[in-house]
Amino acid sequence: MTEAGVMLDARREVLATIRDDEQFLLVTHEHPDGDALGSLIAMQALLTALGKDSVMVIAPADFPLPQEYRFLSLDGLVTAAPADLDRRTVMFLDCGNLDRNPLATLHAASTLINIDHHHDNTLFGSLNYVVEDASCTAEIVWDLLHGAGVELTTEVAEALYVGLVTDTGRFSYENTTVRAHEMAGELIAAGVDVGAMYRRIYEEIPAAKLELLCRALTSLKLYSDGRLAVASLLATDFAESGAEDSHSEGIIDHLRALSGVKVAMLIRELRSADGGTAQKVSMRATDNDVDVSAIARMHGGGGHRRAAGFTSDLPTPELIDAIRAQV
Ligand code: AMP
Ligand code: MN
Ligand code: MN
Repeated sequence: MTEAGVMLDARREVLATIRDDEQFLLVTHEHPDGDALGSLIAMQALLTALGKDSVMVIAPADFPLPQEYRFLSLDGLVTAAPADLDRRTVMFLDCGNLDRNPLATLHAASTLINIDHHHDNTLFGSLNYVVEDASCTAEIVWDLLHGAGVELTTEVAEALYVGLVTDTGRFSYENTTVRAHEMAGELIAAGVDVGAMYRRIYEEIPAAKLELLCRALTSLKLYSDGRLAVASLLATDFAESGAEDSHSEGIIDHLRALSGVKVAMLIRELRSADGGTAQKVSMRATDNDVDVSAIARMHGGGGHRRAAGFTSDLPTPELIDAIRAQV
C-alpha cells in the first residue's frame, strides 16, 4: 500500500476507535508545551462531545504549567493514572517516544493510540497515526474533529490555535504550510482573537523571565566561526532571578536568530524530582544542513530536523565538545 493509503487507514482506524470505545485516557509528553496542551484539550473536547468518558493525565512534576498556557481550561484533568486504567483506551498526543511520558504504568494499557507529528516517532502504539507533514499535533486533532463531525467551539479553537502558533514559531518555521494557514483561518472564524492570543502567549512576560533571558545572553559563546551558538543557564540563575523552568522558553530563538548561526544550543541545569540536577539541552538549526534531531538521538533524545532536545549527565564543557564534534 502507498504511504498515503497507510495514513488513510490509520486515520480511519483512529476514528473507528473513537466511535466504538467508551472510556479514554489522554496523555502527552513531559513538560507539556503549547501543542501538547492544545492537542490534549481539543481531543478531550472531541470525546466529551461524543458522550465518551475521558480524562487527561498530566504528572504532578509538570506543574505549575508554563504561565502563558494557564488561561486554557483543563476540565477533566487528573494528575495520576486512575484505578480503572486497564479498561481505558490510552491515547498519546504529541509524544515521540514512551520515555517522554513519566507515567510508566500506562505502558501496560492494551489499546494504545499514538497520535503525533514527530518524524522520529518510535511507533510505540498498538495503533500509530503519525503525520510527519502536519505542522503540529493540534492540526491532526483538528482534522479528526472534522472526521468525527464535531463542531468547533471558540474554546476548542483557542486550544488548537495555541498548538498551531507555538509549534510553527508564530507561522515562521518550514512546517508553516498552506494547510496550517487554512486551519488558522478556520480557527479565527470560530472566534479566536489573534491579538489577544498573541498578548497571552508572547507578552505579559514576568520580570523574572526577562532577567533569565538577560543571563542567558550574557553566557552566550560562539564556536566554529560563529556557526554554533551556545548559551547556558545554571540552577542558580533560575533561583536568583526567581524564574520557573518554563521561563526559559523562547530564549533559544534569540540564539538562532543571530547572523551566521547554523546551530543554536541552550543548556539548562534543572533540578530533578530526586533533588539532583540534569542538563536539559535544546537545539535548533537554521537550515537543513544539520539535522539536530540526529544529534539529539545520539544523546537519547529526539525531535524534528530543525528543533530537537535531550537530557544529559555530561558536564557542560564535555557536552559542548561532543556537540561540536557531532555538528
Ligand atoms: P525543546 O527544545 O524542549 O523545545 O524541544 C524541541 C523539540 O525536540 C520538540 O519537538 C520536542 O518534542 C523534541 N524533544 C525535546 N526533548 C526531547 C527528548 N528528550 N526526547 C525526544 N524528543 C525531544
Ligand atoms: Mn510538543
Ligand atoms: Mn508538536
